[in-house]
Amino acid sequence: MPQQLSPGGTSPRGLTDGRTAHDLAALPKAHLHLHLTGAMRHSTMVELSHVHGVSLPPALTEEWPPQLSTADERGWFRFQRLYDTARSVVKTEQDLRRLVMEIAEDERAEGSGWLELQADPSGYAAIYGGVTNFTDLLLDAARNAQQATGVGIGIIIAANRTRHPLDARTLARLAAQYVGRGVVGFGLSNDERRGPAADFEVAFRIAARAGLLLAPHGGELVGPPSVNACLDRLHANRLGHGVRSVEDPAVVERLAKDGVTLEVCPVSNVALGVAPAPAAVPVRPLFDAGVRIALGADDPLLFGPRLVSQYEIARDAHGFSATELAELARMSILGSAAPASLQAHLLAGIDDWLTGLLACRLPLTASPPNDRVRITRYLPGIRTRSCDLRA
Ligand SMILES: [Zn+2]
Repeated sequence: MPQQLSPGGTSPRGLTDGRTAHDLAALPKAHLHLHLTGAMRHSTMVELSHVHGVSLPPALTEEWPPQLSTADERGWFRFQRLYDTARSVVKTEQDLRRLVMEIAEDERAEGSGWLELQADPSGYAAIYGGVTNFTDLLLDAARNAQQATGVGIGIIIAANRTRHPLDARTLARLAAQYVGRGVVGFGLSNDERRGPAADFEVAFRIAARAGLLLAPHGGELVGPPSVNACLDRLHANRLGHGVRSVEDPAVVERLAKDGVTLEVCPVSNVALGVAPAPAAVPVRPLFDAGVRIALGADDPLLFGPRLVSQYEIARDAHGFSATELAELARMSILGSAAPASLQAHLLAGIDDWLTGLLACRLPLTASPPNDRVRITRYLPGIRTRSCDLRA
């Protein structure tokens, strides 16, 4: 609810000192909150709609990105309807492979070295011959995309809060079968005001027993009671959004103490009316309270901006310093299900990113004026970066 988050609460701390979007793209990070359909390129959706003769509404074409609000169930329904329309352009095996490949390419461009992509197989089951066939295809597409781009990909199978809890159990069992074969987590999405967490307790128990990371959406459309329910009933390791935790200091303290990572998606929160402006998304108060945060883009197909923009908001609207931005990136990696070796690799890259910034700030007398510092980057495609000491 937009009214529940204070529009203030930020205190710009210096910064915005000329660092560019390229700098933030070079910061190694993990992307933990991105939905399969919602990550499609807008141009791809439009192209596929022509190929398959799917008629798109103005909100997805000339009026894109759509004006959305989820302040009530009607607004959420409209959001879901647009989402379903967007999904309907993906019809063939080739479409799905293209979608996943392009997502990985876009992630690499944004500096993401590890992506956890959420998918609800039931949404694609009718087209792809059932949830198992779809999951097999999705995982194969993810493996190919990982190989081609160097971006590690884990899949989170997400159940739907608005469907019967038995469906969620089926999906949890499905997810459990793919542990060690590309599925890393189990989620729960859609309208939080319907389908209380307690209804999905059994599904999450199945997922937990299989060793999956538990990452339901919560604390987005409903306040602290929903966050507590996700922690008490579902034993969430991470929460999709969770921003409304700030309405209860005890809940914030609990999240910090238990090391629960919040997948905070500032652009999504503003686009859906959860917060009235980027500065009102409580990135700063949560961070200062010691809560782990992994910034995410959620559904760039419907909102526009991708991952780097979320870090730009932290920098520009919340005054995060380079050190703090690096800490956000670290938290995204530490909160992920990425293999330990990849985590270590990306964390070392973050240290390098910071070192590079320090090198750029050397006093002019420290080096001849024409010297340039080159810093090796860890991410494929963003391997080098230069900065002119005179700048
Ligand atoms: Zn989401």
